[in-house]
Amino acid sequence: MQCDCQETIEARVAEKVKESLPEGFTDFSAALEGYVLTLTSPMETRLTIAYEGDVQVPKKSGGGFKRQKIKTSIQATYCPFCGKAAKSEEKQEAPQ
Ligand SMILES: [Zn+2]
Repeated sequence: MQCDCQETIEARVAEKVKESLPEGFTDFSAALEGYVLTLTSPMETRLTIAYEGDVQVPKKSGGGFKRQKIKTSIQATYCPFCGKAAKSEEKQEAPQ
């Protein structure tokens, strides 16, 4: 992501949650789900939304169906909080 919304919002939410906890709490550990480090170069953290479910597909041997899991994900193109592009700008081609 090209912004610091993840860190900023995580900090704000943590502050709010901590306010609601009884005094003396310990080992606080929480984070926004869905931010995934991508294997691009340079590596970037992108907001990723899971797409999961299942489907009944016919068995190859014929007769009957079996459940097949569906599990993939898509990456957000823009930050949902500030609207900035998630991916760093492509290098501009030098004008000819
Ligand atoms: Zn943002």
